[in-house]
Amino acid sequence: MSTTFTPTETRRSDDYIESVMGTVKAKNPAEPEFHQAVQEVFDSLRPVLGKHPEYLSAKILERIVEPERVITFRVPWFDDQGNVQVNRGFRIEMNSAIGPYKGGLRFHPSVNLGILKFLAFEQVFKNSLTTLPMGGGKGGSDFDPKGKSDNDVMRFCQSFMTELSRHIGPDTDVPAGDIGVGGREIGYLFGQYKRLRNEFTGVLTGKGLNWGGSLIRPEATGYGCVYFAAEMLKSRQDSLEDKLCLVSGSGNVSQYTVEKLLDLGAKPLTLSDSNGVIYDPDGIDREKLAWVMDLKNVRRGRICEYADNFKKAVFMPTDIKLEHNPLWNIKADCAFPSATQNEITAKDAINLIENGIKLVAEGANMPTTLEATKLFLEAKVLFGPGKAANAGGVATSGLEMAQNSARLSWTRKEVDERLHKIMIAIHSNCFETAEKYGTAGNLVNGANIAGFLKVANSMLDQGLV
Ligand code: NDP
Repeated sequence: MSTTFTPTETRRSDDYIESVMGTVKAKNPAEPEFHQAVQEVFDSLRPVLGKHPEYLSAKILERIVEPERVITFRVPWFDDQGNVQVNRGFRIEMNSAIGPYKGGLRFHPSVNLGILKFLAFEQVFKNSLTTLPMGGGKGGSDFDPKGKSDNDVMRFCQSFMTELSRHIGPDTDVPAGDIGVGGREIGYLFGQYKRLRNEFTGVLTGKGLNWGGSLIRPEATGYGCVYFAAEMLKSRQDSLEDKLCLVSGSGNVSQYTVEKLLDLGAKPLTLSDSNGVIYDPDGIDREKLAWVMDLKNVRRGRICEYADNFKKAVFMPTDIKLEHNPLWNIKADCAFPSATQNEITAKDAINLIENGIKLVAEGANMPTTLEATKLFLEAKVLFGPGKAANAGGVATSGLEMAQNSARLSWTRKEVDERLHKIMIAIHSNCFETAEKYGTAGNLVNGANIAGFLKVANSMLDQGLV
């Protein structure tokens, strides 16, 4: 593959992207997150499209942005007081060219069609990078589990699954967790699916260990992100040893990111939730992490309590008037955004760069805006895009599906080793692809191009479907 382009090739590629991007915006109004995710992938594909007229004639871009199926449904349920509640449920079945649809369910009041479409679109390329046979999907609801009783959550999950069960199956579409959907929710969803279908199958991943779950699945996204970061540093003859690290969020991904950072000798300094940030200059050690896990997973409390309990830590409440997040203005070596989309703005990126950040690894999906990503790449900060850096979660979901199909359970060590190898392979695939297409060191391009090629070529093989 040559990396130089004739003016005709460059023009062909630019014109095609501009034209499809215009249609995406016109046909999907008021979905800015979806536009952002598509724009990022398209920008990376410029060197590919000029050399491959077959993608243009088969209208691969027009097809890849159009979900194969979008399901929206009413979710009525009774709350503890006997009041009727109504939420909206979604499942986006985005692309099944390389396997059954696979991707998490998000329960959060901010959920809407555009957010789930961006997540489903990202998932297609991420799943392709894992080397496992999984297509892309995403779903969820505007239901907010925060502050709800277990019985409220159960009745909601049962109503949600009553409709969703018509559309999913172990060889069709296999959802998992995401924001607001952890072990408790997966349990209630699985129970209702089994009751409705009279089938005990691997229809969901993230299941409990006693009923088909995989060891390491809860840890996988955070562990995988840190394994990926270690590979990025290795490419510059560096390691995580003694690195000061900023972690945002305090849910599943953040907790296991902190755990693996401690394993590898780094010092995590921060956590957050939607109410604010805690900064612990002494570092979050194993004992403090165990306390956070109990706070978040058992007592379901708020992160501000950390500063009441550990006196040297400070709590900075969320201030919507502030144009930057104070978490990203703390001096550190590495940043692991692990809460939600667009949590690092251009201003945050400037603060991080001015404070000498060496590495950003995205535990969350699309936590960095397009402008901020550009700033990191220009400043030669090691930047691990979510599609690659947080792919360990879905990869281990793929391993859970394999164990379910074979009716086997692998040991903790075996799953962890497979996860580690997958993350190393994803890093080298992104690294080498970036180099091959003339943008050495740009893992955003590497991830988008490598993920795209496998899916696009499979779509070509399977004809116009
Ligand atoms: P959790 O629900 O376990 O935790 C989410 C954390 O992020 C909470 O601390 C939450 O705070 C915070 N958060 C969520 N939304 C916002 C917001 N709008 N503003 C500020 N803080 C917010 O979710 P996960 O840890 O599973 O997911 C975190 C990110 O990682 C998401 O982007 C998800 O898509 C991504 N991801 C998750 C994977 C997984 O396996 N779980 C796999 C790959 C990616 P609060 O409690 O106040 O809402």
